[in-house]
Amino acid sequence: MKLLVNFSRGKGRKPIIAQVVRDTGVLISVERAVIDSSEGEALIDVPDDQCELVRDTMTKLGANVRILEHGVSLNESECVDCGACISICPREVFSFDPGLKLLLSEERCIICGKCVEACPHHALTVQV
Ligand code: SF4
Ligand code: SF4
Repeated sequence: MKLLVNFSRGKGRKPIIAQVVRDTGVLISVERAVIDSSEGEALIDVPDDQCELVRDTMTKLGANVRILEHGVSLNESECVDCGACISICPREVFSFDPGLKLLLSEERCIICGKCVEACPHHALTVQV
């Protein structure tokens, strides 16, 4: 399960992800992160059965955490199988089947949004 975590990085604050790994013992995979001197946003992946534990622990430490139920979604009725999303996706979420119909491996998505902007038919959406 993917969680989107927003946190502040004031002086003296401890690294929140490392702290949660230590306190819960849950292995956290960081899929993308944007962090500056004052705040950060990270998309993390944790085992489904431990996501609420991680969310609650991070929330107690002052983070804003959202559980993301889905990665990218495809509106098949709008898709024309042009392949523009295949080349732009950094995680190889998209591919063609032998009949050149678009396939999705949604679990690989890191919700970066690049494909949403690239799709000429507005067939793709991500949870925000
Ligand atoms: S870019 Fe849009 S229309 Fe083209 S294959 Fe991808 S989802 Fe379909
Ligand atoms: S949101 Fe990003 S990672 Fe997810 S499918 Fe689109 S381009 Fe790939």
